[in-house]
Amino acid sequence: MMTELLSDRLNRPLRDLRISVTDRCNFRCTYCMPKEVYGDEYAFLPKSELLSLEEMTRLATIFVQMGVKKIRLTGGEPLLRNDLPEFVKMLRKIEGLEDIALTTNGLLLKKYGKSLYEVGLRRLNISLDALSKETFSKMNGRGIDPKLILENIDYAKNLGFSVKVNMVVQKGVNEQEIMPMSAYFKEKEITLRFIEFMDVGEDNNWSFQQVVTKKDILSKLLRHYQLTPVKANYYGEVAGRYCYENSHVEIGFITSVSESFCSSCTRARLSSDGKMYTCLFASNGYDLKELLRGNATNEELANAIWQIWNTRNDRYSDERTELTAKSRKKIGMSYIGG
Ligand code: SAM
Ligand code: SF4
Ligand code: SF4
Repeated sequence: MMTELLSDRLNRPLRDLRISVTDRCNFRCTYCMPKEVYGDEYAFLPKSELLSLEEMTRLATIFVQMGVKKIRLTGGEPLLRNDLPEFVKMLRKIEGLEDIALTTNGLLLKKYGKSLYEVGLRRLNISLDALSKETFSKMNGRGIDPKLILENIDYAKNLGFSVKVNMVVQKGVNEQEIMPMSAYFKEKEITLRFIEFMDVGEDNNWSFQQVVTKKDILSKLLRHYQLTPVKANYYGEVAGRYCYENSHVEIGFITSVSESFCSSCTRARLSSDGKMYTCLFASNGYDLKELLRGNATNEELANAIWQIWNTRNDRYSDERTELTAKSRKKIGMSYIGG
């Protein structure tokens, strides 16, 4: 197979795969799945359209043969899929796959954390946007108390997971939580990563005015802490990292808006209905499920993936303007997987 030389038109290799295992979620975060859009009538994918564990594993194996080293499981809320531990078990058997991680809102960790740990999952990114009950319950759209997520973060740490916390910061919504969140997670020795609010999908009424940039956040933090930049661990690392003075605890920034990182973007995405996307802000995907269910051979699937990656030239964040944010048709974050 044509593996070693696989890179796209901007010379970016294929290294990461994000698999969205479901488009459903038990939260209705205002910036992702606002309840006015994702209400009772919303047509989520029928079960028959979702890839089975075998189908996802088959594709993942081919992706790994083509250069992927890391797989992130995401969604929607991946813990809504009760066969997730079985899936991790299957993925762990793929030769050459170096890392598997899970992004979750954390609500169901008490239910699945132990079995996920037992099958060998070690890394969790848990999303939490505020410590304040009032702010968080509004943001998650389901009135969920942040205490539940904090308890589950402790639970996951105690099980032995390596945990990072992701906080989306939105102007006028949860900026006031930057300092309490950083103090809390510094004390807990957990990496907190601030994510700039992005114009993913078409449902969150995004505008530049609502973005709190890394620069804004850093200047707040620097009034209280001394922070030293930490060198990137590897090519294509998404988070810009800093370390607190006299401490090994880190904080990070995911700066898709203010400092784009398209030039080293090595990530492909697979939606839960088997479409491959080469950018988080894409309008269209490539239907691998049709090939899978049409009895394509592994070689045919590999050729299709090769073609897609080889002709890729996405660099949306480099090109973002208020106009592209409004005019381009984009796939929703809960569907494509964050
Ligand atoms: N449901 C899981 C969760 O929330 O962790 C996994 C999927 S969620 C789409 C993945 C990540 O995307 C979360 O950390 C979430 O906060 C982030 N996210 C969703 N919409 C976003 C937006 N408009 N801008 C920035 N980050 C966003
Ligand atoms: Fe669900 Fe995650 Fe989107 Fe929130 S960010 S609505 S938890 S998929
Ligand atoms: Fe990669 Fe697209 Fe994000 Fe740029 S905008 S970093 S190409 S996913």
